[in-house]
Amino acid sequence: MPIQLSPDVSLTTIEDLDIEGRLVLIRVDFNTPIADGRVADDTRIRAALPTIQYALKKNARVILVSHLGRPKGKEVEALSLAPVGDVLAEHLGQEVTLSDRPLGEASAFLSQNLKEGEVLLLENVRFHGGETKNNEHLARELAAFTDFYINDAFGTAHRAHASTTGITQFIHEGVAAGYLMVEEVRALSQVLNAKRSELVAVIGGAKVSDKISILKSLVLRANSVLVGGAMAYTFLAAQGHEVGSSLVEEEHLKTAQELLAFAQERGVNIILPVDHLAAAEFNESAIPVSIDQIDIPDGLMGLDIGPKTIAAFQEVISHAQVLMWNGPMGVFEWPSFSTGTFAIAEAFASSEAYSVVGGGDSVRAIHESGLADQVGHISTGGGASLEFLEGKPLPGIEAIIKRDAELTALKEELDRELAAQPKVANIDSH
Ligand code: ADP
Ligand code: MG
Repeated sequence: MPIQLSPDVSLTTIEDLDIEGRLVLIRVDFNTPIADGRVADDTRIRAALPTIQYALKKNARVILVSHLGRPKGKEVEALSLAPVGDVLAEHLGQEVTLSDRPLGEASAFLSQNLKEGEVLLLENVRFHGGETKNNEHLARELAAFTDFYINDAFGTAHRAHASTTGITQFIHEGVAAGYLMVEEVRALSQVLNAKRSELVAVIGGAKVSDKISILKSLVLRANSVLVGGAMAYTFLAAQGHEVGSSLVEEEHLKTAQELLAFAQERGVNIILPVDHLAAAEFNESAIPVSIDQIDIPDGLMGLDIGPKTIAAFQEVISHAQVLMWNGPMGVFEWPSFSTGTFAIAEAFASSEAYSVVGGGDSVRAIHESGLADQVGHISTGGGASLEFLEGKPLPGIEAIIKRDAELTALKEELDRELAAQPKVANIDSH
């Protein structure tokens, strides 16, 4: 059964297609770290296994397409998918054929001669310059290899590339999402579609500038936004507080002021730190100094949230029905300044709410906390997860979902009416 993402949008899954014995091209995300010609971390390969194994169980003839790194249209040996093919073969317990090139006659020959239950891995699709340009010729040529197309590469869904978007126009038999894609879309949709009164967002990390769009979108969609990490100091400075030598993005003080004003107008609580753990220098062995007030004296920089802030954040988190978290509360890589971040991890773990954690460093933090299995969903997407949560359409997903045109038109009309309502400050000028 296709998954209903919202009243007007549904997502077809690999299980909805009759792929028995057929050619199935799966766009996977095998963009794994390679060191000394070997796969250094196979998390992404393992994440793609359920979809590949399902297709093999159905005796499909499986063609896998992925990018690796940024070869910029050149055949860069260090970015060959060969080491990935070896690891994949081990996990699947069967042979994986690697083509020399992503496209060309040899690849076409290999795909057309695949037998049921066999796997062909096409070489790094970004060896072809047309991939990132969503080149139509490349999209057509890839599509010609297969009957069905499955996208299981959530991490690249925010890019309109030939193998994630263009290709779907030229597939005749059917397009659908793989298990990893389905899981991400389902989890992130729960956050995106949460009622405002239910949603509490925790946001932190290094910079306001990285996260302006997600902050704006959260102010529209959450009741409370808890802000920690370095970005909190730009907000505190914008309110006129002393922040010592903490990281402040001077060029975004105005953005922070506008976000605060916008939130206030809408009755949304942006909750900022009221105490801190600071240090005289940005150094792992720096001596932590507790600061039991909002203002930070000269010569000290905030590197973690303090105990009162932790308690306040935990209290708000405990009342949420839906939780999302992106961005650590402090320099969690350094044990002396990791308390705030791990306290949030615990608050998430002990909450009954549906919870989602996203962002490279935040995901690392939740794994390090040992509590990863107690949150609802850990997003693998990075940029794609953030854009999804901002409510932006992701081209890779748009290309495989189905919309009910009438309902969509109705929804757009409602959105326009809402947008036309007065009292909403214009914060889109940045
Ligand atoms: P994510 O990858 O989860 O989206 P970010 O990349 O935005 O998170 O931010 C993570 C980085 O922010 C971490 O490396 C962390 O050390 C840093 N950071 C958090 N708080 C502070 C702070 N108060 N001062 C300096 N750096 C900080
Ligand atoms: Mg990061």
